[in-house]
Amino acid sequence: MDEEVLRKYIEAGRIARIVREEAAKRIEPGVSVYEFCEWVENRIAELGGRPAFPCNLSINEVAAHYTPLIGDELRVPDESVVKIDLGVHVDGYIADTAVTVSFSDKWDTLLEAVRDALEKALGIVSPDTKFSEVGRVIESTIKAYGFKPISNLGGHSLARYTIHAGESIPNVYEPFLRGKFGKGKAYAIEPFGTNGAGSVREGDIIAIYALIRPNLRRRLNELQKRVLNAIKERFKTLPFAERWLKDIAQVDELRRALRRLASMGFLVQYPVLIEKSRGMVAQFEHTLVITNEGDVIVTTR
Ligand code: MN
Ligand code: MN
Repeated sequence: MDEEVLRKYIEAGRIARIVREEAAKRIEPGVSVYEFCEWVENRIAELGGRPAFPCNLSINEVAAHYTPLIGDELRVPDESVVKIDLGVHVDGYIADTAVTVSFSDKWDTLLEAVRDALEKALGIVSPDTKFSEVGRVIESTIKAYGFKPISNLGGHSLARYTIHAGESIPNVYEPFLRGKFGKGKAYAIEPFGTNGAGSVREGDIIAIYALIRPNLRRRLNELQKRVLNAIKERFKTLPFAERWLKDIAQVDELRRALRRLASMGFLVQYPVLIEKSRGMVAQFEHTLVITNEGDVIVTTR
């Protein structure tokens, strides 16, 4: 990782931290989720970054991957627990960060458990730390508060224009996992905790997609071509929201084209992820880079 790349990771992290903190102050019951997410994404641009993925605003038992659909009228409910997960990139170098805000003090210890798990996990990261050690710390910390970590969600390595660069950092102890941190690389660590069963399943709503195989040879109609070209041009391989293409076609047609491009293999879909027993879910996330010298820099703190 050369100095220019490191500088871009740090700049993305600086913007992500500012927007996350402003967003956490701004969110409250009654707020339109659509307007809120657009505000987050515009604020990222205002500060000189680009959204690395759509603003995710996942409420209560929804753990991740909710972003408003075109025409979405959802508002933040009273007494809810809201995860704001946002990504910033500078020239493709990404900062991925999340915070949970609760509108009922009933969930204070759940939030505290997950916040503490993230801090303790960050505290053990070095160029030689095994991913399994992070999983162990996250699991034991969250369990000490009487909650469960979500076992099928976790952190990940990051690469240019790539949110999930191939390595996974578990939220539970996996003794046989061989991976470890390395110099010159970037990672996101993201514990999730719940009072529920401790895993997520896919829900029916799909509002987020990403291009995975841009050069498949398939016969496409005019609209499908237009949608695919807009995706390549605007988002490259980064995740995008349906609403980010609302200028391309009328909503029903757009949705049909996206589903078709996904079924042909061009796109991957990211359905919302819901806690299996509909437990309450909290999440906190930071991005870190490890320099060539082995220094650990948490870019989003
Ligand atoms: Mn995230
Ligand atoms: Mn992440």
